Amino acid sequence: MDDYSVDLVVMRLPGLHVHASSVTRHEGVLYFLVDADDGQRQLAVTTPAGTPVLADFEGVPSAFDEQTLLLCPLSAENAAALRKRLAWLLPAVQGLRTTVGLGDRLGLATPGHLRAVREAGGHLVPLPAQQSIREMSRTGRTPQQVMDDAMWGVFAEGWRSGFGADADHLKTPQDIDRCVATGYTFYTFDPGEYVESGADNASPQALRTRWDELPWEQLEDSPAALAARYLSTPVRCEEHIIRFDELTLMRAAVKYGRAIAYVALLYRHLAQAAAGREWEVEISVDETETPTTSAEHVYIATELRRLGVRWVSLAPRYIGRFEKGVDYIGDVNAFEAEMGVHAAIARTLGPYKLSLHSGSDKFSVYEPTARQTRGLVHLKTAGTSYLEALRTIAVLEPDLLRSIYVFAREHYEVDRASYHVSALWERAPAPNALTDADLPGLLEQFDAREILHVTFGSVLTAPSADGQTLFYDRFMEVLRTHPEAYAADLVVHFLRHLRPFVIWGDG
Ligand code: ZN
Repeated sequence: MDDYSVDLVVMRLPGLHVHASSVTRHEGVLYFLVDADDGQRQLAVTTPAGTPVLADFEGVPSAFDEQTLLLCPLSAENAAALRKRLAWLLPAVQGLRTTVGLGDRLGLATPGHLRAVREAGGHLVPLPAQQSIREMSRTGRTPQQVMDDAMWGVFAEGWRSGFGADADHLKTPQDIDRCVATGYTFYTFDPGEYVESGADNASPQALRTRWDELPWEQLEDSPAALAARYLSTPVRCEEHIIRFDELTLMRAAVKYGRAIAYVALLYRHLAQAAAGREWEVEISVDETETPTTSAEHVYIATELRRLGVRWVSLAPRYIGRFEKGVDYIGDVNAFEAEMGVHAAIARTLGPYKLSLHSGSDKFSVYEPTARQTRGLVHLKTAGTSYLEALRTIAVLEPDLLRSIYVFAREHYEVDRASYHVSALWERAPAPNALTDADLPGLLEQFDAREILHVTFGSVLTAPSADGQTLFYDRFMEVLRTHPEAYAADLVVHFLRHLRPFVIWGDG
């Protein structure tokens, strides 16, 4: 069956449109997506008559000419069946390639993301499935839904260049199990609760007490052995010499020792749970109070290796502020100097990638990061794709955006608690002063942007008085009926994220 006959199929299905970039022929079977006028999307599978209908798929069959056509809902069962037949729809490990995490809280952003990656050129590899357990519980989605939504986007765009799936900010063995069951490939461990940020300002005496209390057995270590490893010779990482004195070492061990023991526990759990599969690990300590010094970075990497942990990517807490959805706040030159040392450590003790978490909209540090890491980098973005959806809605459905903004302002003070943001409610524009034409401008105003960013969970799950959703259904309907508008907004926004990294993704 050729593309001409795809058109023939569709002529028989009035009101349905073929999503052209999805048309895939594989082993005598044709697969493609069809859209109804109301935005409802289905998978079409056609096989020559006489061959058994593909029993894996659930759908409504119809016969005509020499073909059998199945029209299938985009269910988890049909996603699994498609993945089984088209191997490039399975996520894969990406090693040290330059990668970009493309978190998508709505499940509709992958087409726009992949178009941006394609248009940016180079060899950047996307991770279109990426969601933390925290974000999933805020949006009422499961690891499987996140994975399936990304896969349907990969299929829709005809993307065959590979991708990964990030089980982001995992905090417990139970989190790991849920994501292993779904086939994630990239596991981000977050031992942040075990990082003792207070060590930075603790007195030598207080440090000594906490040092004695470290979980030495779990660390398979002793105070004397640890001191002997670090205090005798400085660590050379390219042109940087990193020296430990007793206080530096105590501070590093007190601050990160418990986190290291916990990462080793998570790592060993994953190795067992995912035995026989391909997987890779990122370690993140980005969501902590104080920056990771170069000595602390050396300590973390050295100790994790000693305990048998292997990882492709590490997210230290960098200097300056990485607030959600807005540019880097801090001294860019100081950031680049510090990034240079982190990158030298990562090349020497790994090599592994450095990861930029809360990486959305950090335009001023992309070039310095690409330069210093020489492409050994993972850029992690998430909430900015939700903000782009709001931009799309601001144009198509101003009244909806206006009510979301009113609601977001009311919920900001509560919702901000678990995020690094500094927006002030009273600095954000008052809703009643805004004309429709002003609304897209909210996405350019610092305070309004952060307020809209951190309230996504409340907005998407708020119930209405009659037991329906306050915003969610209408929100999704606007995006589903205007997929090209949303994709176009994403492409513009993401090209600004990706281009600085492209030169390092080549080769
Ligand atoms: Zn993070």
